[in-house]
Amino acid sequence: MISVRGGQEHILAQLAAPVPAEVVPVTRALGRVPAVDVKAPFDVPPADNSAVDGYAVGSADIPSADTRELAVVGDLAAGAVFGTAIAAGQALRIMTGAPMPAGADTVYPQEIVERAGDRVRVGPLVKGANVRARGEDVEAGGIVIEAGSVLRPQEIGLITSLGIWQLEVHRRPRVALLSTGDEVAEPGTPRRPGQIYDANRFTLRGSIEQCGGEVLDLGIVPDVREALVSRLREAAGMADVVLTSGGVSVGVYDLVKDVLAELGTIDFWQVAMQPGRPLAFGRLGGTTFFGLPGNPVASLLAFMLFVRPALYKLAGRRRLFSPMWQARTVERLPKKTGRREFKRGILAYHDGAWEVRTTGPQGSGILSSMVAGNCLIVLEEDRGDVAAGELVLVEPFADPL
Ligand code: AMP
Ligand code: MG
Repeated sequence: MISVRGGQEHILAQLAAPVPAEVVPVTRALGRVPAVDVKAPFDVPPADNSAVDGYAVGSADIPSADTRELAVVGDLAAGAVFGTAIAAGQALRIMTGAPMPAGADTVYPQEIVERAGDRVRVGPLVKGANVRARGEDVEAGGIVIEAGSVLRPQEIGLITSLGIWQLEVHRRPRVALLSTGDEVAEPGTPRRPGQIYDANRFTLRGSIEQCGGEVLDLGIVPDVREALVSRLREAAGMADVVLTSGGVSVGVYDLVKDVLAELGTIDFWQVAMQPGRPLAFGRLGGTTFFGLPGNPVASLLAFMLFVRPALYKLAGRRRLFSPMWQARTVERLPKKTGRREFKRGILAYHDGAWEVRTTGPQGSGILSSMVAGNCLIVLEEDRGDVAAGELVLVEPFADPL
């Protein structure tokens, strides 16, 4: 049986290149990953400009101790340019964002001056105060966004501040998704006795979309060999990744790994972890295959641990794993050595320290534990029972970007 780390490394090593790039308008680029570095075509801001509403002056006119009076020679709004230079003894009323006129290098905020008619009285001030320098945000030619980063609203704004309106990003990895099991019913349709409604296809759909993938929904396949074979063949022809849930355990009707072995190859099908031990990974035609466990907590956890980093890599991202923190557990955590265990936790800042508790019953079918929780508690392989008060690793549930 492979370890969690071993499984992750193996999977990432199988994925060669990210998916190809496409050009999209910036309005469609949120959450996408640039395929090339984005460089600044010019300085931002393009000119020295005022950081406040006030009066632009030349530093030679700043009194060293006392105050002095200057003649106000005009009014400059943002978006306009003052055609002439400011001479000695002169000040220009200037609005935030307006370019500094020639001859001026310092701006008095209007709140600290006395204005009377076309005269303004100013006091001592540091030379260069309240001026935003040309290029202080971004210098021309510099890389503003590296390839492989994820575009958040702030990256998009920085890109548009350069006048760029479209860019080259990796296309979304395509994931063919299906549920298996005779007992699984489609939400919104009647359910036969003995059936349960599909949870996994929807936790997984959301997870795929959250990490930038495109879902190709292939529905629910019964535990019938021929049906599974034809649906998996179909899936392999249309996607970068094929994702199933259920049918990878050791039950009589757990057909997924047998069918995969027949149609493609299986690299491993069990991971030393809890929940989520059954997990088939391999290849199906030209695509990467993940057979996730059926239990809803296990399938979502397996997605987070194995599929998400793989989709990130395919999408061209540089960072593949979420950061982990440490917190003190307020309760005792039973733990078996030799496998990595994941509990659903509630992480909170309390009395000056981070502490974590479990969400309650931790069965791998209890999806409400994922709803109640805001993190995973990660207990390493070599660890045994954890006493209350010990430090544990926690991985906050990732946000959409
Ligand atoms: P399996 O590995 O197929 O035996 O499934 C393990 C458990 O997960 C069983 O209790 C299944 O009913 C349940 N299960 C399988 N697929 C789903 C699904 N799509 N949504 C909710 N529960 C499921
Ligand atoms: Mg099943």
